[in-house]
Amino acid sequence: MLWGVEEMYSIGEFSARCGLSAKMLRSYAAAGLLIPALVDRSSGYRYYSAGQLHRARVIALLRQADIAIEEITRFLGRPDAAQLDRWDREIVDASAARRQALADARAALALDGARVEFRAGTATHRSRRDTNEDATLPGELLFAVADGIGGLDQGDVASQLALDTLGAAFAADGSVAGLLAACRAANEAVWRRAADEATTMGTTLAVLAVTSDTHAVVLHVGDSRLYRLRAGRLARLTTDHTVVAELLRHGELLAEVADTHPHRNVLTRAVGVGPRVEADYAGVSCDRGDRFLLCTDGLVDALPDKDLRAGLAAGGEPRAAAESLVASAVGRGAEDNVTAMVVDVR
Ligand code: MG
Repeated sequence: MLWGVEEMYSIGEFSARCGLSAKMLRSYAAAGLLIPALVDRSSGYRYYSAGQLHRARVIALLRQADIAIEEITRFLGRPDAAQLDRWDREIVDASAARRQALADARAALALDGARVEFRAGTATHRSRRDTNEDATLPGELLFAVADGIGGLDQGDVASQLALDTLGAAFAADGSVAGLLAACRAANEAVWRRAADEATTMGTTLAVLAVTSDTHAVVLHVGDSRLYRLRAGRLARLTTDHTVVAELLRHGELLAEVADTHPHRNVLTRAVGVGPRVEADYAGVSCDRGDRFLLCTDGLVDALPDKDLRAGLAAGGEPRAAAESLVASAVGRGAEDNVTAMVVDVR
């Protein structure tokens, strides 16, 4: 349709040429983004000029890129390559965030693609002590070590009772909430037993749990530790609940003297020494090929991190790796009970 010197299109014709629906064109007109070149006052018909086709196509493309109408209006007032770059980065970031959320959902649901198997091996040695007060729980979905507190009566009873209670409670409810309830139950069991026997008992606890709702979770109380070896790099997943660790955290102690500090094994938290206990816990990612280490302080007091890393990275079955680490610690004259549990993700 010709109108004066410039070709004019009805809204239907213009829609067909620019790829924006008539409904969109009306809403963009209302927003001031693309105002018809002419409105026939008698009929109310809108007409767009051929010269508006380019702007309409750009709008259609930006809308395809999911840019908001108000942003497009501002942008077309002063088109700027830097703004296109910013939108490009936003799309990349948003896409990464969406992909991560999908991956997390996959892991949380433990669907086929993310299903991994856990294989555990354990070794323990009383070393120079008369008794071994460390205990271990190598379950199918629950892996734990506990170190009965030295200096208190029946540390071995405390560590075993804590793990038995934890394991039974987690078997009944394998969710994260169930794990936390299991930890509370373990604390109460030790606390009550100590009260019944008019004594004091306590234990540390370090747990790797494959929960039904958040996949893998690490939880700990005290100075038993969890590490993860991934692609040859060792990461410590827990922070000791000890006087020395607290001093370090507050910058009141030099890291160089922490390993030899006389109070390095004095705990600030333990299971069973009070009616309630606060555990630290966090979700942890598990990829095929990851190797976890759960251990008591006897192991890490005797072996520095570089030796832990080398022992774990040497490969072999989990049990052989655990035995090798414990043998190294005992060979270096470990004073305390030494326990290592190696858990492979396959
Ligand atoms: Mg110990």
